[in-house]
Amino acid sequence: MNKPDSSNYKLAGIDSLKCDNHYATLPAHFYNKQMPDGISDPKMVSLNPQVLALLGLDNADADSDALLQLCSGNYLPSGFEPLAMKYTGHQFGHYNPDLGDGRGLLLAQVKGCDDAVNTTWDLHLKGAGKTPYSRQGDGRAVLRSSIREYLCSAAMQGLGIPTTQALSVVVGSDAVMREQVEQAAMVVRVAESHVRFGHFEHFYYTQQLDDLKLMLDYTLTKHFPDALTADVPYLAFYKQVMTTTAELMAHWQAVGFVHGVMNTDNMSILGQTFDYGPFAFQDNFDPAYVCNHTDYSGRYAFNQQPQVGYWNLMALGRALTPFMDVESLNAVLQTYDDIFLAKFRELMRGKLGLQQVHDTDGELIKNLLEILAGSAVDYTYFFRSLSDFDSAEDADNSPIRDQFIDREAFDAWVVKYQQRLVLESSVDEVRKVRMNQVNPKYILRNYLAQQAITQATDYDYSLVNELLEVLTNPFAEHPEFEKFAALPPEWGRKMVLSCSS
Ligand code: AMP
Ligand code: MG
Repeated sequence: MNKPDSSNYKLAGIDSLKCDNHYATLPAHFYNKQMPDGISDPKMVSLNPQVLALLGLDNADADSDALLQLCSGNYLPSGFEPLAMKYTGHQFGHYNPDLGDGRGLLLAQVKGCDDAVNTTWDLHLKGAGKTPYSRQGDGRAVLRSSIREYLCSAAMQGLGIPTTQALSVVVGSDAVMREQVEQAAMVVRVAESHVRFGHFEHFYYTQQLDDLKLMLDYTLTKHFPDALTADVPYLAFYKQVMTTTAELMAHWQAVGFVHGVMNTDNMSILGQTFDYGPFAFQDNFDPAYVCNHTDYSGRYAFNQQPQVGYWNLMALGRALTPFMDVESLNAVLQTYDDIFLAKFRELMRGKLGLQQVHDTDGELIKNLLEILAGSAVDYTYFFRSLSDFDSAEDADNSPIRDQFIDREAFDAWVVKYQQRLVLESSVDEVRKVRMNQVNPKYILRNYLAQQAITQATDYDYSLVNELLEVLTNPFAEHPEFEKFAALPPEWGRKMVLSCSS
């Protein structure tokens, strides 16, 4: 581990990143300091220019050997102090005390490009080798799952849904054993924080209450400064986490995203989509869709997500009980449903092109979801096409009707939709513009991710990069990439994915 052999690279780039490694100021038993275990013969599969810009880096840095070596665990600029975080969490409802960064390292916390906002970005290298928390794992990540995390981070960002981001995917020549032999790869995840619900659970369940307090005070100071001045700072913190989590669940439900592994160690304290594994976007709408093939009970089915968010917040709340009375925590939790529902309705109204709030909206939305499920209509395609709905025309003549097997159900719903549009004097052309700004034309359908992975396995990274470009701006038309808006082929529908990554 040292400087790469790169006499011709420009030192002004990554070597000038300013580190502020505040997590490393916590006591030594909160983490394990260690060097990454780099991968051999690294090649840059893709680099996200938007994330590069967040860090104040530019195109010249993008081509530098130093950046490639950093993203593959072979080089650390000065000031980088890699560490594996200790945390625990509830996995599928059961507490697991043995978790932690088992194959990822927080490389450094670096100042963002915009000094004014004073953001520090965690650079987290996923696939960086074994740590004390690896259990039976090999500490590695494979190309397949790395591409999925990389593309979905960009897709969620493009959709305006809170998420961690991903700077890069690199692939190496090392072989990694999963269900089959796969190529080793690494992702540099970028986020304002990698603190998870499970960080607090660790100190609670080990009854290290001084450390729990330290963890809380650290988190509030760094990430919730407003809570510090509240009457009861920890309660204000909990309220903010509850709110952002409820709103995140609303975003997932509105866009049709299934996370797949909503364990409390995969829940970001910032309410961001975190840890992409066997996730999926809805194709033919199925509220009970379970995308993770090891989720036998359907705990993390699409329609369970809002209540799992609540359950996970309860688990976080429990970890705060040494410093908070249960009644106050419960009072905060009691508001979860209302916050979720208000956000969900707001997002769904937007998807329907509605601007006003009416009493019947809840019923209109519920009814629509029922008929979409009843006819297994493609979720994304439906909403995008609804912007072309001619409100003056008879439902029988609407081409949207053809998406439904149960046409009568569509006819009945559309009458209510028409009435609702009249109620707010909606103008079709204006509504269309609005709807196309919130209903994506492009989403990361599993079949697209799979095609990109298959090509990348054969050393062709063009599809990964094309998808990145389209998903970064999923509401625009991109005529040259029309093919990415196609409905899934038969093999690509309702894919159930392996958790192995
Ligand atoms: P995940 O399901 O990816 O959220 O991982 C759950 C736990 O297993 C975390 O503590 C991970 O760090 C750890 N883990 C996952 N994959 C590996 C691996 N290949 N090697 C070591 N630890 C792993
Ligand atoms: Mg995880």
